Amino acid sequence: MKICIVTDMEGLAGVDHWDQCYAKADDAPEYLHGLAQLAADTNAAVAGCFDAGATEVVVWDGHGRNRQKAFMRVDLDPRASFRRLEPGAPLKFAGLDASVSGVVMVGQHAMAGTLHGFLDHTQSPHTICRFLINGAEHGEMSQCALHAGAFGVPLLHVSGDEALCTEARRLFPWCVTTATKRGTGWETCELYSAADVRAQIRRDVAQAIARANSAKVWRLPPPIEVTVEYAWSAWADQLAATPGVRRPHARTVSWRIDDPRFIYNWPCADWHPPR
Ligand SMILES: [Zn+2]
Repeated sequence: MKICIVTDMEGLAGVDHWDQCYAKADDAPEYLHGLAQLAADTNAAVAGCFDAGATEVVVWDGHGRNRQKAFMRVDLDPRASFRRLEPGAPLKFAGLDASVSGVVMVGQHAMAGTLHGFLDHTQSPHTICRFLINGAEHGEMSQCALHAGAFGVPLLHVSGDEALCTEARRLFPWCVTTATKRGTGWETCELYSAADVRAQIRRDVAQAIARANSAKVWRLPPPIEVTVEYAWSAWADQLAATPGVRRPHARTVSWRIDDPRFIYNWPCADWHPPR
C-alpha cells in the first residue's frame, strides 16, 4: 500500500511566526526552527502510515520558500522517500498515480480570506484575495484533493490549524483532521502541545488509512471553471490578455480546464484553452 504525503509549513505544530516559514536566510534560527517542526510533524505522519500497513510512503515538500531543499536539511524517516515537485508540468507529483491508496497533507493552512486562519492564503497572501473552483471558494487543500482525485486517489488526512480542519470537515467530510493550533489573528495563534499533536497525527493518520475504503475521491465533471480574484487590478492585466481567459471584474480573471490535473497551472503564453 502506497501513501503520498504533501507538506507545507504554516500549519505545523510548533510554528507560530511568519519568519519560521519565510525567513530569507537559509540559516536564520527561526527558519531552522520551522524546518525542525516540519521534520517532526512529517515523521509522525510517516509513522502513522507504516502503523497502518503502508509499504511505500512518498513525501513532497509543498512549501515554495523551501525550494525543495527542506528534506535534504532535516532527517526524514528513512522508510519514506522524498521526491521533488515537477516544475511547470501538469503532473506536479511524479509518482502519484492510480496505485496510490491516499494522500495525507501535513502542516497545511486555510484558504485565503479565512477568519482566524493562521497565515491563511491561497498561493500568495498579498496578491490573491480569493480562489474559486466552479464559483465556490477553495484553497490549496482543495487544489491537492482535486489533482489527486484525477488519479482516483482520495484525500485521507490533513493537519493544520483549527480553521484548516474546519475547512476540511466542510469540504471533505470523510477526511480525518488533526488540529495543531488555534489562529487568533492573521499571524498570531495559540499553539497546542507539539508532543501531543504529533502523537495525535500518528494515530489519526493510521486511523484515516484504516478506513480509506470509505473515503471519497473528489471529482468534478469538466469543464471546471477556475477564478482568481487579485488584490490589485494590475495583476489581472497579463492573464486577461491570454486567449481563453475571461475578466469579469478588473481584479478577477477566470478560465476553464478540461482536466482537473491542471488545477495548479495558471494560463501562460503556451497555455491552450480547452476547446
Ligand atoms: Zn506554505
